[in-house]
Amino acid sequence: MKVKARLFDKLGEKKVKCHVCANECTILPDNVGICRTRKNFDGELYSLIYGSMISAGSLDPIEKKPLYNFWPGAIAYSIASIGCSFKCQNCQNWSISQANPTDDGKEGFYDLEGLKNRGMHLIELEPHQLVKKVVKSGAKTLAYTYNEPLIWHEWIIDTTNLLKKENIKTILVTNGYSTPEASQELINVGIDAANIDIKSMSDDFYKKICGVKSVQPVLNTAKLFKENGIHVEITNLIIPDLNDSKNDIEELSKWIFNNLGQNTPTHFSAYHPDFKTPSTKRTPLDVLDRAYNIAKNIGLNYVYVGNLPHNKGSNTYCPNCNHLIIGRRGYSFTNTNITKDKKCPNCGYDFNNDIIGNINR
Ligand code: SF4
Ligand code: SF4
Repeated sequence: MKVKARLFDKLGEKKVKCHVCANECTILPDNVGICRTRKNFDGELYSLIYGSMISAGSLDPIEKKPLYNFWPGAIAYSIASIGCSFKCQNCQNWSISQANPTDDGKEGFYDLEGLKNRGMHLIELEPHQLVKKVVKSGAKTLAYTYNEPLIWHEWIIDTTNLLKKENIKTILVTNGYSTPEASQELINVGIDAANIDIKSMSDDFYKKICGVKSVQPVLNTAKLFKENGIHVEITNLIIPDLNDSKNDIEELSKWIFNNLGQNTPTHFSAYHPDFKTPSTKRTPLDVLDRAYNIAKNIGLNYVYVGNLPHNKGSNTYCPNCNHLIIGRRGYSFTNTNITKDKKCPNCGYDFNNDIIGNINR
């Protein structure tokens, strides 16, 4: 669905500059930005994906996002659109993130036939129709996930406003490549939680693997969200030979510790070859184990391991006495050892600032 975009400047000769993500594309008339979802029509910028969703959404455990310290055990109504501000060589969702517009003006703006051939169909909803579906599902959280939500800015602003009225929490699973002005609009509308990918601390990695200039906008978004009360968890996908050195993990863990705080949940996740296979190897368990120990030794209290079973990396432990608080296998709980008022049953440590919302035991 085509709607007028927010956050763009008009330049001379009917060019526009988009400020929704840190690519800040300058777009000529009849052209689209890097994400392929914003188009310049006669000197005005439009989003082409407002309300355009891949299927009607699915019900996922919130742990799949991954969020482990935000409403643990909740169901997240999960939706996605198409397009992305990045071109990651390892993208597992490349068939939607790299989908191409056709702009034939008849069937909408996307290669619907191509999507259909890949087993997907795009549906169009108004904000109130989505909210109705979420309420009916019984889910108390809505996650924008699978493709990059930041480029869905106008739709997220409008739906979050309505979801708030139904007391449904909004979650972004994002590459964090925002601008300060777009982040501020998301903060103002009341985004509740975000899992932000910090793919590496190296600009070189962002250039070569993701096709963008720098990690700095991602770090800025994480800090700004956190400072403004959004619950932030960080994910780092460890790709063999590309971002898996001791130095890589130390630098990232220290940055999180110093800038977001030691209670920021940090997920190290296993890579498997996909799309353009920037590495042909899967992440070995011992590399994830080393990352887990480095982050713990630096002082991060909630370190998790994803995509491979790890003896401690699925569980939440008390930062004060190391008592097992939530045990997990996959996305399910094996046990929950926490009092009703969210204190450690062993030492009395108060989890109310560290684990947000109820624990769905
Ligand atoms: S959202 Fe980002 S990638 Fe898309 S047009 Fe705007 S600046 Fe470019
Ligand atoms: S940011 Fe995420 S969705 Fe976008 S290309 Fe990279 S991995 Fe895919």
